[in-house]
Amino acid sequence: MRDLPSIRDLDVKGKRVLCRFDFNVPLKQGFIEDDRRLKESLPTIRYLKREGAKIIMMSHLGRPGGTKVRELSLAPVAKRLSELLDSEVKFVGEIVGDEIQKISEELKEGELLLLENTRFHPGEKGNDIGFSENLAKLGSIYVNDAFATAHRKHASTYGVATLIKEKAAGFLMLKEIENLSKLLKGPPPPFSIVLGGAKMKTKIPVIKNLAPLMDNLLIGGAMTYNFLNKKGIDVGDSLLEESLLPEIEEVFPILRDNNVNLYLPMDLVITDRIEERAKWKVIPVGDIPCGWKGVDIGPKTIQKFREIILESKTIFWNGPMGVFEISPFDKGTLEIATAMGEATKEGALTLVGGGDTDKVFTGSDIELSHLSTGGGAALLFLSGEELPAISILKEEVR
Ligand code: ADP
Ligand code: MG
Repeated sequence: MRDLPSIRDLDVKGKRVLCRFDFNVPLKQGFIEDDRRLKESLPTIRYLKREGAKIIMMSHLGRPGGTKVRELSLAPVAKRLSELLDSEVKFVGEIVGDEIQKISEELKEGELLLLENTRFHPGEKGNDIGFSENLAKLGSIYVNDAFATAHRKHASTYGVATLIKEKAAGFLMLKEIENLSKLLKGPPPPFSIVLGGAKMKTKIPVIKNLAPLMDNLLIGGAMTYNFLNKKGIDVGDSLLEESLLPEIEEVFPILRDNNVNLYLPMDLVITDRIEERAKWKVIPVGDIPCGWKGVDIGPKTIQKFREIILESKTIFWNGPMGVFEISPFDKGTLEIATAMGEATKEGALTLVGGGDTDKVFTGSDIELSHLSTGGGAALLFLSGEELPAISILKEEVR
């Protein structure tokens, strides 16, 4: 397998370049709530435009399940992209077929075409060869810039790359790999990892893979209760992922063998109902009454976590510290975000990844070394796994 080819090494002038982006943006009634993923894709689009490529862009949006779902059309993305680029983005609502083939062949240098949501086609998620072949006919060069979807072996991220000889990673893909790789290569110590959120399945492999490199592991969010449960502490009605409890058991000796300091919350915010204006109180760990659940880390824990973050030279954070969608259960998460910003200013290497954690930074001016566009993809990468959409770019087509 060769090294990952870069977009810089391609000669794209006058060629039809088929590009996979991750334009999977949050939409509300056709309105794009956060266009960060579009903005992060602009360097690749602008470069191809400047170099005189004929640009055919594709992406998925949401989970339409292999059929056309009007609310998940990429039409609003085409409109927003044309505003951001100050340039027309052609969009006809088709993915493959005669019409789109003809439009792609008639593109002039620097012109842009966006295909409809690839997941409207049942062949996308199935990595169907026929669908991949039809996509591959649209371009003579393939560029993948969709890091956030790189853990998916789909037709537009994988199948098509098995068919097009000339292919490369785009600028966002390269930037993500470069930044996340720093964590795998033994970054400046002390190296602390802050984990929270709810989906433990994707996070435990990160702990296992990075344990030899990290100094401190700080646990918040719903993950807390699984750890407390394993330590024999009663967690009331807090969220538990029963099926993963045996895996947590494996984590303790790994942390011990690698001299990782494990920090669990000392105090918690608990409520009897997860909703706005619910009753809540702060309690020490271990005092959760029956019928109550933990929904955030408490003030003493915030203070401790802040101290550790500010003493670290490298910090990776994934997963909110509490049910941050509901105020005031967002306090722990916001305080950790602030501490991350302060650490960045002090010169620490600060990275954040996660589909939900990333929302904390939407519209905020907190600075980080790197805010990943990837959730699942970033976690898999940090677990030491090869991402299929990246590996296939390294494989030559005969
Ligand atoms: P990410 O996408 O950033 O990796 P996850 O998907 O794992 O994060 O988890 C995010 C979710 O975790 C949020 O919706 C948040 O409400 C939830 N969460 C965090 N803490 C708790 C808790 N104590 N109880 C229930 N849910 C929680
Ligand atoms: Mg999530």
